[in-house]
Amino acid sequence: MPLQQPPILLQYMPMPSMTSQQEQQPWMQVVQQAHEAWQARQAWLSAEQAWQECILAEKAWLVLQEWLSTEQAQQAQPLAQQERPPAKKARPRRSAKPQQKADCLYIDELSQATLQSMAGRCVLIDPGRRDLLFAMHEDSSIEDKQLYRYTRNQQRKETRVTRFKRILEKVKPADIAAAERSLGAGSCVKPDLVLFKEYLKARAQVADKLTIFYNETYTVHPTSTHQIHMFKTSEPQSFPLHRKLRLSAYVNQKQADQRLIKKLRKEFGPNAVIVIGDWSAPMNRFHEPIRGKSWRMLLKRGGFEVYLIKEYLTSKTCPNCYGQLSNTRYVPNPRPFRHTKRPMVKCHGLLSCQSEKCLESIGKIEDEKEGEKECEKKEKVQRWWNRDLAAVLNFRHILFSLRETGIAPTRFQRKQPTEAPKARKPRKTKACKPRKTPSPTNNLPAQL
Ligand SMILES: [Zn+2]
Repeated sequence: MPLQQPPILLQYMPMPSMTSQQEQQPWMQVVQQAHEAWQARQAWLSAEQAWQECILAEKAWLVLQEWLSTEQAQQAQPLAQQERPPAKKARPRRSAKPQQKADCLYIDELSQATLQSMAGRCVLIDPGRRDLLFAMHEDSSIEDKQLYRYTRNQQRKETRVTRFKRILEKVKPADIAAAERSLGAGSCVKPDLVLFKEYLKARAQVADKLTIFYNETYTVHPTSTHQIHMFKTSEPQSFPLHRKLRLSAYVNQKQADQRLIKKLRKEFGPNAVIVIGDWSAPMNRFHEPIRGKSWRMLLKRGGFEVYLIKEYLTSKTCPNCYGQLSNTRYVPNPRPFRHTKRPMVKCHGLLSCQSEKCLESIGKIEDEKEGEKECEKKEKVQRWWNRDLAAVLNFRHILFSLRETGIAPTRFQRKQPTEAPKARKPRKTKACKPRKTPSPTNNLPAQL
């Protein structure tokens, strides 16, 4: 029997990829046999037999095509797509960041009965950076001041942070300091691959040295942190210095917190209701984070009832005339290394009210004392406000307004957009005006 050329279909017949379900089909054996026959034909083995098997393969291929056209076409899904995992549902797009549920209620969410029951017990607190807590009782007045400040310096003194820092600098050898400085060549923070590689290289070179120093620097005596010794000494109570100082700092922080709670209870009574501002700055460059939630949790654990108050514009509004405060006073720069570039900076904590009401009220008093010129008098006698004091006084305005009317004063409310924002007009490009061609009449001398 002469060998004939197989059908064109079989010349390009690939072995289709099958799923586990398809492999169990009865026609699958036929397909596999056909494929083997095709391979045999390719190898020129038993040409006649191959040809017969090729005919068989063609039949099988036709069966397969028929099956594919009926079953798979009904599903309208190609094989490759059927094997794909189901696509994840797309998240609904949110226009704004979802508001997390606050750990405390806002004071404007309370009922009138609750607000009235708190009368005479509220302590208004403004959290800040230098004055960590500036507290004022709602009954405080100029004659009977009921204020309490908890400053950062006080906290540093109680937690002994500065002393510990000085000790650590003293015990650090020059080579360790140089090794730490070498880490600054790269960066492990910036999203830059080159810098991160440099950082890893530098880190790998000094890692052993730093690990030994920070793990195996021991105190000679348990009560002394000045006398240190590399590696463990024969003293039975010799502790690793760095771990000891970290533990001490943690314990001191806890003790300082408890001391603060006791002080607040002593100043404002055990039944005081804390109304604290909702502003905090957890991540601010070159600044220590301002505690927000941790203050509230601490006060709650201390047994106080804690509520939040919205701080919007409270530290920028004059509590006397409701005008806008501005920081116009310049003071020497608190950062000595910046003195050459900026010797004077604006004072953040001291604000002045320059509204006419405040100026007039003070100016009249001053007018009786001195007979100066009016402009000089105004410069001297403008009303100065401590930013924290202005904030807590405005808190009190809000609290009293909520008790009387049920809503906060409009000057401390955020403006709600009533209409959709207008589309911006396209910027008008300044087209070059064509030069006026001098008319022949303009060039004529005036005499004519
Ligand atoms: Zn004012």
